[in-house]
Amino acid sequence: MGRAGSMLALDSPYISNFAHNNHEEPQELCLEYGSATQVYLVPIAQHEEQVFLTPTQVRSQGPRLSCAPVDNMASQVTLPRDLHGAVDFSKYPFRAYVSDLHGKMVGVSLFGTVTSVCKVSTSGSTFYLEIEDATGVVLTKLIFTGHWSLGRVGVGHMVYISGLTCSLNKINILEVSWSEKEPGSLFVNLSLLPALLNSTCLHNISLLSDLPHSANRTHICRVRLDHIDCDSLKLSLFHNLCGYVVDELPDGLQCSFCKVACQNGCTPGFQLHLTIADDSEKVFAWCVGQTAVEFLQISPDEYMELPEDEQAMYLFTLQNESFTVAIANTSKRVDGYAENAEALPVWEITRALRCE
Ligand SMILES: [Zn+2]
Repeated sequence: MGRAGSMLALDSPYISNFAHNNHEEPQELCLEYGSATQVYLVPIAQHEEQVFLTPTQVRSQGPRLSCAPVDNMASQVTLPRDLHGAVDFSKYPFRAYVSDLHGKMVGVSLFGTVTSVCKVSTSGSTFYLEIEDATGVVLTKLIFTGHWSLGRVGVGHMVYISGLTCSLNKINILEVSWSEKEPGSLFVNLSLLPALLNSTCLHNISLLSDLPHSANRTHICRVRLDHIDCDSLKLSLFHNLCGYVVDELPDGLQCSFCKVACQNGCTPGFQLHLTIADDSEKVFAWCVGQTAVEFLQISPDEYMELPEDEQAMYLFTLQNESFTVAIANTSKRVDGYAENAEALPVWEITRALRCE
């Protein structure tokens, strides 16, 4: 039985907002007992039950906990739940910060912002991803079994990556790598998730005028479409695997990011430049793919079927429509970031949601 002072663990609570009335911003989070929620009482005799998590114990990972290990062997991070069983926390990811990384670590998870991403060489299936969190920056080597498979990832995107391995090379430089085929390898681009905008409890609304002064790279803003015209819009081919634009070279189509030939496996889409505004500021931004379709509310095929004068008229009708957007600073990282005229931010709208 629990009593005042007992420590509880809560798995999969239902998260809802608490607003005093319909006109107020939701300010408080409310955790409710939902259909998938489980509550655990953590044993009070902590000095007996506490286990020390070392990196080698978190080698096998998964996104969910398991109450009954398949091999029926409890790991060293198993806590008794009640008389009938125990919870094995070895399946929970172990999140580290960049400053925590050192040699001989496996199964490490990082959450941060992408500051650069590129292919190591034109041939091969290895890429470099640079991730920054509040404690530092780390360059990660991504090794794929075939082609790039993580969808679109760009500078300024918030990502979660797990299954990282850290080692020291011959000259004692830390090397961090991630292999697609390693069990427990997981990559999530949070900037592109619909939940980022749908779940109001996950974000605070920023004003556009706050953007240049903030250390955060991703912001959620409520904006109206201030300006868009036919010159703002370009139709291009996008590579399905990575979402980047495909270049037309003399010997065929080549992805500008993966550098692979992609005669098949590409889809037409919009490249859109637009001005968004709120009461504080106007910002010139860009977006591609599904986000551009959300703004334009028309598919590339449907748009191309319109006569030219109707295209212009159609775009004009979209002005002043309201959207909630996730907007990311895609400028390259500058050490000791200083506010000056040369450091022009480039803003990408990674998600947009039309407000009725
Ligand atoms: Zn590609």
